[in-house]
Amino acid sequence: YLAKEQGNTYQLYTPSMNDKAYERLNTEQALCKALENDEFEVHYQPQVNIITGQITGMEALVRWKHPEKGLVYPGDFIQIAEETGLIIPIGEWVLRTACLQSKAWQDAGYPPVTVVVNLSARQFLQQNLVETITRILQETGMDPKWLELEITEGVIMKDVDYTVKVLQELAKMGIRIAIDDFGTGYSSLNYLKRFPINTLKIDRSFIQGVVSDIQDAAIVSTIIVLARNLNLKVVAEGVETEEQYLFLRGKQCYDMQGYWFSRPVPAEEFEGLLKRQPFSRVVTMAEVAATE
Ligand code: C2E
Ligand code: MG
Ligand code: MG
Ligand code: MG
Repeated sequence: YLAKEQGNTYQLYTPSMNDKAYERLNTEQALCKALENDEFEVHYQPQVNIITGQITGMEALVRWKHPEKGLVYPGDFIQIAEETGLIIPIGEWVLRTACLQSKAWQDAGYPPVTVVVNLSARQFLQQNLVETITRILQETGMDPKWLELEITEGVIMKDVDYTVKVLQELAKMGIRIAIDDFGTGYSSLNYLKRFPINTLKIDRSFIQGVVSDIQDAAIVSTIIVLARNLNLKVVAEGVETEEQYLFLRGKQCYDMQGYWFSRPVPAEEFEGLLKRQPFSRVVTMAEVAATE
């Protein structure tokens, strides 16, 4: 259908545009159906404190169990969900599912773990965000102090006054706030002072180069010190290798997330990780002290 006959001439469409628009519409319709048919699934990735070896957090990451394509990752649909507004019902579903799961594990006697949920720009700027979160916490019986919401610098800087207002309301409820992908966005250090933020997550792109690139090493070290001086928790994301882990440990960054510990896994598998604590991948500081 790329070329359409018009009399004697062929009208060429720009294939990329046409395909894209078509695919977009397709994805939008499929996402609507996916919501109806319950095709989404939440996977959880542990955040590990390397001093205790305990899991301190679980980041909820949405996946789409597509009937034909199999498991589809957020990179392939979150953008479209964001543009069409479908991120609102999808995000609500993720939040409710993660809170229910966490509550169930707490009730079953596992040590409590912070539930970390991503909020997109559209979700954050939604008028009734605070009401929605309040309702979900009530419905699920989740204690707000175990919930941490992740937003990016871009979201924060969209409307600074509004952001301050919403973050203060969330903080008053006892919810924690993390800045995701820290260091990659446009933002001013000023907001770290103005906003009630609890956690900085160092972006994976910096962690990746930490052992090979002196600039990445410098940036990561600086963010760690910045967080410490501002009394913020700092989490390194995308830790994949022992070398990266050792570098971060040496810089006194003790909270990490990444494939080195575990990929995001379905709930049943995450429960296995909860049972098998302390994390076997972690040499605890006590063990380090004993061998040094
Ligand atoms: P994010 O919030 O920065 O999440 C971390 C992403 O990095 C996840 O990708 C995770 O699987 C991946 N990751 C973690 N450790 C490693 C590692 O060691 N190496 C590598 N290469 N990757 C690692 P995922 O699950 O594909 O999600 C991508 C993005 O989609 C997320 O980035 C987040 O921005 C967005 N997202 C995911 N779930 C949701 C959701 O429920 N709501 C919203 N609004 N956004 C979501
Ligand atoms: Mg995140
Ligand atoms: Mg991130
Ligand atoms: Mg992100």
